[in-house]
Amino acid sequence: MRIVVLAGGIGGARFLVGVREVARQLAGRGTPAEVTAVVNVGDDVTLHGLRICPDLDTVVYTLGGAAANGKPGPRSSALRPAQAADRGWGRRDESWVVKEELAAYGAEPTWFGLGDRDIATHLVRTRMLDAGYPLSAVIEALCARWQPGVRVLPATDDRVETHVVTETEALHFQEWWVRHRGALPAKRFVFVGAEAAKPAPGVLDALAAADVVLLAPSNPVVSIAPILAVPGLKDALAAPVVGLSPIIGGAPVRGMADRCLATVGVECTAAGVGGLYGARSAGGILDAWLVDTADAGTEVDGVRVVDCPLWMSDVDATAAMVRAALTAAGLDV
Ligand code: GDP
Ligand code: CA
Repeated sequence: MRIVVLAGGIGGARFLVGVREVARQLAGRGTPAEVTAVVNVGDDVTLHGLRICPDLDTVVYTLGGAAANGKPGPRSSALRPAQAADRGWGRRDESWVVKEELAAYGAEPTWFGLGDRDIATHLVRTRMLDAGYPLSAVIEALCARWQPGVRVLPATDDRVETHVVTETEALHFQEWWVRHRGALPAKRFVFVGAEAAKPAPGVLDALAAADVVLLAPSNPVVSIAPILAVPGLKDALAAPVVGLSPIIGGAPVRGMADRCLATVGVECTAAGVGGLYGARSAGGILDAWLVDTADAGTEVDGVRVVDCPLWMSDVDATAAMVRAALTAAGLDV
C-alpha cells in the first residue's frame, strides 16, 4: 500500500507518527506499506544567514525521536499547552547559548528561537544549499541521521514563501506568526514564488503511484494550501484524497489556525475547513473528510464525512485515525 501524506509542522509530524505505525502494522501482516510525506516549505526563512525549514525539521525531528514536542507516545504531551519541553518545534535537550550571544550583540532578529543543536542542522543545510544541492537532497542527508522511517520530501525545491499582507505592509509569515503572534490584522496570504515552482523530485511520482493521499490535520491555510499551490500538484491527486480536520468543536486543537481561517473568510469549524478543501466533484480535492466525534453530523457538499476521535493524544489514538482514513478511502486495513 502506498500512502502519501501532505503535511505541515506539528500537526503533520504527529499524524505521520501514526501513519508510520499503521504502515509497520500492515507490513507485519504481510502488506508492505510505503509512506511518503510531502511537506510545506512556505514557512522557510533565512535568518542570521541560516536557512531554516520549520515544518520539514519538525517532521524529521519528530519522526526521528529528537523533537521538543514530546517523544511520539506519551499521552500527556499532545494535550498539554506548549511548555519548555513541549515547544512544538526544535530539538529536545536544547541549549540557547548562540541565541543569547546574538542578543548580546544586538543582532536582529531576536524574536526567533534558534537553539544550539538546531543551529547545527541549519548550518549543514545552508552549506549544502550554498554548494548547489537542492533542498530535497539536503533533507535526504538530514534523514540519513534521523531515520524517520518514512520518505520525507519538500513540496518543492523552489522558493514558495508565505507572506502576510496587512493594511500597511507585507511580511514573512514567520514574522507575523512568531514575532507578532498572528495579532496583526491580516488581509491575505501570498505564496511568493509559487507560480514558478516545480514539485520536488519524487513528489509527482509518489502521487501517481499512491493508493491514497491523506491531508494531515495541519493548518489548511498556511501548511496545506502552500503545498497545493505548487503547480501540477493538485492535478496529480489521482488517488482518493482523505482529509482530517485540525479543528475540533469550533477551535484549533493547538495554535492559531483560527486567525488564518478568519483571514481567508472561512468559519473555524470542521465544516468550514472541509468546505475550503472542497469536494473533488466540485473542483475541490476531497473524496472523504474525517471530523471528530464532537463534530458528528458535519456536512460538506459532495464529500463523504466520517466522524471518529481525532485527538492525537498518543501513537495508538493517532494510528486509529489513520486506519479510519484509509478505510474511508476504501482500503482494506
Ligand atoms: P505547524 O506547521 O507547526 O503549525 O503545524 P501544522 O500546520 O502541521 O498543524 C497545526 C494544526 O494541527 C493546528 O491547526 C492544530 O489544530 C492541529 N492539531 C494539533 N494537534 C492535533 C490533534 O491532536 N488533533 C487534530 N485533529 N488536530 C491537531
Ligand atoms: Ca508551519
